Amino acid sequence: MAPVNPFREVDGSPNVYTTGRTLMTVNAARDVNVYGERLVEFAGTQYRSWDPMRSKLAALILLGGRDLGLDRSSRVLYLGAASGTTASHVSDIASSGMVYCVEVSQRSFRDLVGVCESRRNMIPIMADASRPEDYSHMVEGVDLVYQDIAQRDQAEMFVRNMRHFDVERGILMLKSRSVDVNREPGEVYAETRRELVSKGLKVREAVDISQYAKDHAAFVVGP
Ligand code: SAM
Repeated sequence: MAPVNPFREVDGSPNVYTTGRTLMTVNAARDVNVYGERLVEFAGTQYRSWDPMRSKLAALILLGGRDLGLDRSSRVLYLGAASGTTASHVSDIASSGMVYCVEVSQRSFRDLVGVCESRRNMIPIMADASRPEDYSHMVEGVDLVYQDIAQRDQAEMFVRNMRHFDVERGILMLKSRSVDVNREPGEVYAETRRELVSKGLKVREAVDISQYAKDHAAFVVGP
């Protein structure tokens, strides 16, 4: 009797798999791991475990975030890619798409370049995400902006990129303490939602992900 596949696709999150408790993506760079994550083989497919304590996007999906606009063919502009931990899982998901990874820190960028070298759909871009005009010539046909940058003006930066690339879909990982260390996170989230809406974006979902990432909420924007 053939062994039963322990992995099933998460409803509403194409190309993300679960065993019921943990999340997995299909490794697009066979036998290469990025941050010490576990690789698991089943029926000729290699899965990478996806740690919600290390990745806010995994936290969002585990907490029920759905219809994120991220699928096999997505072309993603990823702002604040750091060393490529989450971006590598986005590259697994968008297996026939593209992930443009913007990062400003030289130290992180060096690691990011190493991760991109083993993946055909990840492009590293050393730039300041608050200046989309500096990298727009390197980016083509983006349909989703993902941002994870702990800066005071993070919402404004997100809106600027959404407008510059004329994109309707986006995911903003907001760190409230970086916006204002003295205010309650809930207040900062409410104000951010108002700011996004006032700038013409439609917030489909706002999810408090603080059980995995302290003082963070995810804003899912879409048509
Ligand atoms: N998204 C990453 C992950 O899940 O693997 C973690 C990102 S870390 C919280 C934030 C990153 O944003 C840092 O690597 C930092 O250097 C970068 N960053 C901060 N300001 C930036 C800016 N203006 N433009 C581009 N990257 C920036």
